[in-house]
Amino acid sequence: MATSTKAYGVQSEKDNLKPMDIQRRDVGDDDVKLDITYCGVCHSDIHTARNEWGGSTYPVVPGHEIIGRVTAIGKNVKDFKEGDLVGVGCLVDSCQECAQCKNDMEQFCEKGATFTYNSEDKHLKGQQTFGGYSSSVVVDKEFILRIPENLDEAGAAPLLCAGITTWSPLSHWKVKKGDKVGVIGLGGLGHMGVKFANAMGAHVVMITTSPSKAEDAKKLGAHEVLISKNEEEMAKHQGTFDFILNTIPVGHKMDPYIGLLKVDATMVLVGAVEPLEPFNGGGIIMGRKRIAGSLIGGIKETQEMLDFCGKHNIVSDIELIDIKDINEAYDRVVKADVKYRFVIDMASLKN
Ligand code: NAP
Ligand code: ZN
Repeated sequence: MATSTKAYGVQSEKDNLKPMDIQRRDVGDDDVKLDITYCGVCHSDIHTARNEWGGSTYPVVPGHEIIGRVTAIGKNVKDFKEGDLVGVGCLVDSCQECAQCKNDMEQFCEKGATFTYNSEDKHLKGQQTFGGYSSSVVVDKEFILRIPENLDEAGAAPLLCAGITTWSPLSHWKVKKGDKVGVIGLGGLGHMGVKFANAMGAHVVMITTSPSKAEDAKKLGAHEVLISKNEEEMAKHQGTFDFILNTIPVGHKMDPYIGLLKVDATMVLVGAVEPLEPFNGGGIIMGRKRIAGSLIGGIKETQEMLDFCGKHNIVSDIELIDIKDINEAYDRVVKADVKYRFVIDMASLKN
């Protein structure tokens, strides 16, 4: 059984986002239903809507930075009640039994995690999951996050993806006070990376292609700004970074960034899910350097990040938009022209 629900999505990779109706399952015993109040706009939404990674199944309803209020719960739900402020990130299901799930890394579920959009829906057979550009969603209680009530609701939305995707590698690689940490790319992910690295006590260097963002980067918590197109400036920072978080959304030249790492230091990629330009093996051999990847974060870790944000009053810097302006927002994200995350006011879908 399912209910027709208003949404915004694309019917093909060439399509603009338009209003559409989708089916949401009725509330099961383990489910939580929420009215969506805000949804962030991640670059992954654009990659998926436009089939830039391949594998998109249409229609696509993007959105995995979901904030809302609980409107109904199933009989097995004890931790949430009607009216609670909650969030849903990139994950809505996993087997809960494999080693990865038991180890709180549901994103790497051995049976395959169910992502919030464009995954096979385990409940409504024959359709894929639809994301948060919609008026409501029904999600298993294990994938519902509690949002600290002191946080700005709209600003909290991007924590569900941009927040956890940057928090997880910074904490996994144990970034600490005094480390020199570079964050490449001042967009949705990058600006959260700067805030978190600063809060962890690191010396933060914003590595950007956009000189116009330098002043903002400092306000967000960067101690220095490095313009990556400036070879002289890049040369001054050679071999000095303990850790680099690379959020560039497309394939790119790696050598200039590898050169920035110290001996034994790591650069973590979270953005470029596609072929990278060939890089010189010597760049990592000389200095025992590491290149690693990271995918969002598990549910437990996401709750820890949200609680940290509640305690330190950390939210995203956002541009709030109506749903009708979503196509223009996509074009601006692609041009690296967003300060620093678009968030959709979902009340605008009702009008
Ligand atoms: P975004 O808001 O578009 O930010 C990306 C930033 O990277 C841009 O603002 C720009 O910053 C810089 N940039 C863009 N093109 C570049 C290029 N060709 N060379 C160098 N720098 C470039 O994107 P986002 O939402 O933060 O997402 C970043 C990437 O991470 C996307 O590919 C997204 O799909 C992916 N992602 C991955 C995960 C994961 O779990 N691994 C989770 C969420 C998102 P400057 O103007 O400062 O240079
Ligand atoms: Zn995302």
